[in-house]
Amino acid sequence: MNDARPDVLVVGAGVIGLTVGVCLAEQGLRVLLCTRSAPSATTSAVASAMVGPSLVPADDPVGGRERVSIAEFTGLAEIEGTGVALRRGRLTSRQPGPSLPGLQPCAPRDLPDGFAAGFWSTLPLVDMPIYLRYLLRRLHAAGGRIEYREVHSLRELARRAPLLVNCTGLGARELVPDPTVRPVRGQHVIVDNPGLEEFFIEAPFGTAWTAYWPYPGHVVLGGTAGDNDETLEPDPVLGEQIRQRCIDVEPRLRHARVRAHQVGLRPVRPAVRLELQQLGAARCVHNYGHGGSGVTLSWGCARETAGLLTGTDGPPAELG
Ligand SMILES: Cc1cc2nc3c(=O)[nH]c(=O)nc-3n(C[C@H](O)[C@H](O)[C@H](O)COP(=O)(O)OP(=O)(O)OC[C@H]3O[C@@H](n4cnc5c(N)ncnc54)[C@H](O)[C@@H]3O)c2cc1C
Repeated sequence: MNDARPDVLVVGAGVIGLTVGVCLAEQGLRVLLCTRSAPSATTSAVASAMVGPSLVPADDPVGGRERVSIAEFTGLAEIEGTGVALRRGRLTSRQPGPSLPGLQPCAPRDLPDGFAAGFWSTLPLVDMPIYLRYLLRRLHAAGGRIEYREVHSLRELARRAPLLVNCTGLGARELVPDPTVRPVRGQHVIVDNPGLEEFFIEAPFGTAWTAYWPYPGHVVLGGTAGDNDETLEPDPVLGEQIRQRCIDVEPRLRHARVRAHQVGLRPVRPAVRLELQQLGAARCVHNYGHGGSGVTLSWGCARETAGLLTGTDGPPAELG
């Protein structure tokens, strides 16, 4: 794209901003991403990340976004270097519950002690640092650029390009400003992979649950949720509790060497904001507040953003 005036300015280079950038650049638009942190230093880089499952009713818009993403990631699992792989695993609960349509129930012998229900599923797992690098390569290949800077006002940015997309995650709290966005802290322990092939995850999510996701070479252990907690320093006590819960379910993890502890702040909002607004002369689509499902929703939300931005989805609301 060189230094020509961009058609679209995307603020944010986490999974949401990069996916939007790729979609728009591959449609032939001149795309410039502005971000204060490198993709490797975003919340997105810390996600585990599991895509799906989509368990909401067919007519729910969230379900539609999830299904678009699951299809996209399933295709990416076929391509080397994306960091995406299809993995089989168990979705479990300590409480008995209803059957999940389309999923095969676990036999009693497949459930660890203390678990009352479980289902087998095959889902895309995404090694996020590798996947974010892949998205960046794809953005550049389509002519998109990235600029490292803090954005203080969307209105000022509106003078630089006719189209804007706000993908600032938790940053939307100050930038918009949107006080309904709040951090929910998650901590992971990364260990060597002792030979695990299948993932395991417990639901429902409270403040702590058991989950592990195997990747070539390492396993990500979770999970925790600390509402309104912005502490970025890993908590060693929490880390040991995470490890112990996973060992109780999968004893092969007991002697796995700990490689790292990671913390990320999920950008939680009562609902994802995916909405068009007129900002002076520019059309701006807000695409933020994906909470603990940003990877799962990324492709569905990016395609909708592109539709809103290029004008196929009705007139924008005027911003006061
Ligand atoms: C521990 C953990 C586990 C998770 N597991 C999963 C999972 O299994 N599946 C799943 O789907 N999701 C998962 N998530 C959720 C997922 O990580 C998030 O929903 C997703 O990363 C949000 O992406 P984002 O691009 O909106 O935000 P971020 O990745 O935070 O990116 C925001 C971008 O905006 C930029 N920015 C912000 N403000 C400004 C500003 N003023 N000026 C310039 N740039 C700015 C930042 O620098 C950054 O580039 C998990 C999250 C955590 C923390």
